[in-house]
Amino acid sequence: MNNQMTFLARNAGFTVKNPRKAWATRKAMNKHRKSHPNCEYCGRSPIHVHHIAPVRVAPELAADPENFISLCGKRCHITIGHAGNWRHHVGNVGLICDAVKINRPWSR
Ligand SMILES: [Zn+2]
Ligand SMILES: [Zn+2]
Repeated sequence: MNNQMTFLARNAGFTVKNPRKAWATRKAMNKHRKSHPNCEYCGRSPIHVHHIAPVRVAPELAADPENFISLCGKRCHITIGHAGNWRHHVGNVGLICDAVKINRPWSR
């Protein structure tokens, strides 16, 4: 029995109700956290792994690394990822962070 099967056996219904906490999602997010340890906007750490397309809208992208972006927990996650309100989601957050990198080549 693999890890995911064990997890599901112990937490029946958990994955279906909350794809954000599914084993595959957590694993993919941890991997992203290790490969992108700094905020994509300001370069600070520690970071949160932000979902570009919100999980409640696009649960099929919950574990997709293309849908992750690292934003620091102190400021950028809420301001850049969510426009100051956790109920909002900034759709072009990737473009915003890319623009910042172009404008501040020293922070690469
Ligand atoms: Zn977020
Ligand atoms: Zn930041």
